[in-house]
Amino acid sequence: MDEPSAHKLCGLKVLIAGGSIGGLATAIALKAQGHHVTVYEQALVPDTMGSGITIFPNSLRALDMLGVDTAQIRAVRIKMMIRTSIEEDGSADAIENDIDEKAWPWYQTTYQDLFVSLWEAAHDNSKPGPKIDIVTSKSVVSIDPSRALIYFSDGTEADGDVVIGADGVHSVCRSFVPGGSFRRFRIKRHVFRALIPRERLENDSRTIKFIETDGRAHCYNHQEKSLLITPASNGQNLCIKFLYEDRMAFKNLSKDWRDPSSKKKLLRLAAGLPDECMALFENILDRDLQDQPIWDMDPLMTFQSNRMALMGDAAHPMPPYCGQRIAMALEDALALGVILEPETPNSEVDERLKLYSNTRKTRAVAVQQTLRGLSEADMRNFATEFDAYSFHTYILGHDEREHICQALCIWKKQQCLRQGSMGFLELPKPSTQIFEEEPRGDEGKSRQRSPSPKKWWSIGRKGSKTWSRVFSSSRETLRPVVATS
Ligand SMILES: Cc1cc2nc3c(=O)[nH]c(=O)nc-3n(C[C@H](O)[C@H](O)[C@H](O)COP(=O)(O)OP(=O)(O)OC[C@H]3O[C@@H](n4cnc5c(N)ncnc54)[C@H](O)[C@@H]3O)c2cc1C
Repeated sequence: MDEPSAHKLCGLKVLIAGGSIGGLATAIALKAQGHHVTVYEQALVPDTMGSGITIFPNSLRALDMLGVDTAQIRAVRIKMMIRTSIEEDGSADAIENDIDEKAWPWYQTTYQDLFVSLWEAAHDNSKPGPKIDIVTSKSVVSIDPSRALIYFSDGTEADGDVVIGADGVHSVCRSFVPGGSFRRFRIKRHVFRALIPRERLENDSRTIKFIETDGRAHCYNHQEKSLLITPASNGQNLCIKFLYEDRMAFKNLSKDWRDPSSKKKLLRLAAGLPDECMALFENILDRDLQDQPIWDMDPLMTFQSNRMALMGDAAHPMPPYCGQRIAMALEDALALGVILEPETPNSEVDERLKLYSNTRKTRAVAVQQTLRGLSEADMRNFATEFDAYSFHTYILGHDEREHICQALCIWKKQQCLRQGSMGFLELPKPSTQIFEEEPRGDEGKSRQRSPSPKKWWSIGRKGSKTWSRVFSSSRETLRPVVATS
């Protein structure tokens, strides 16, 4: 076996542009592989403004491997869906469906709960791997993918071995991958999102039905509008997602999650929905409301250029349906963690990111095409006829770790054949030894762990919390981490 100190030298220097769900998840996966990660986020303060996020099995699996479980994200399992169709004449027809946990495991969380859990995991220094640096208020303006160089708006630059573009739908990094059309477009649909704290609904007879029973989701369809109401945060919040068609959709081509929205507009568009829904909307504070366009983009030719790879919304914006936009970001993060395994030679970065791109692109395009169709059908209340079995098996049942490990294994075999020898063939190493950084004063050595298979992502899951170092005790009073550089 090689000297541990030799392994220690092998951690790559990874620069991540963007510190939201995708950037943080990637940082966690790469730290666990022994890489030295710095995340650059343009926002001054980590922003947790957001609403409901659906977690289906592929997200659950990815989160579990990143060391985040349903308890940490305060997820609520949805056990029943009540779907109400409102006809032109105002009459309503409601259908109740039990949701079987095995057939359709559906959890609901919030952007805030998910973000905070990933943030906490990224700052948990009890987990193996070098400390992750998160630099806020640092805006990426340009990349040199061949040298893994990032240029910032303040005139500074940073260089590494790998750059990951996790800078979302309006990605700067995207313009540095070759070919393809970068034209993102807004579909005619918009979405209002909001969170309503439970206690605001308890004293109103019209809204009590939304909180009186655990794990109930309500869906209302009226003309081309659709309203989904789900509990989250251990039942402490109700998530509102109201989809509507916006005929004036093309005014602002860079609308951000942080931009203000108007409740007046929501109430006007929601006309025709039953009283209980309007009463719900009255309980939303203006500051908690988001009115977001839905971005889509035709698939890129590649997610990679030399030493840079795109992930999450930067690589493949898609309609937010069944939580799959976030699921794709989590799967990408997991895949990057496997592809850039410990001891990845610097000279292989380009080829490995190519492999990541090819493997993830096939999956992301298939999911994107399915979601485009499904979100249309659901809006018009046709989705009851869709092929649930295939959706469940292929999209939700997907195991990205297995998928990317197989791809890496084949790639390694090909490499060996090219070099004319199979003698040193190694299987992918998500389960290889992990080398912890030595405590100070004992340099040159590192402690080895020999975890059982799958351990790289689960080591330290039960480790002590570092919450308070970053945040105050309440999730409602999020504080920024001090920027490091
Ligand atoms: C504040 C916020 C709230 C959200 N709320 C919801 C929600 O309620 N429901 C939902 O389904 N999805 C929500 N999303 C979107 C969701 O996170 C993504 O669609 C999905 O998780 C993919 O994540 P991502 O990390 O690829 O992209 P994003 O989540 O969009 O993150 C991109 C990050 O990169 C940063 N960034 C962008 N450009 C630069 C630059 N030039 N330099 C440095 N940093 C840059 C952004 O500030 C952002 O933090 C939200 C995103 C944000 C940023």
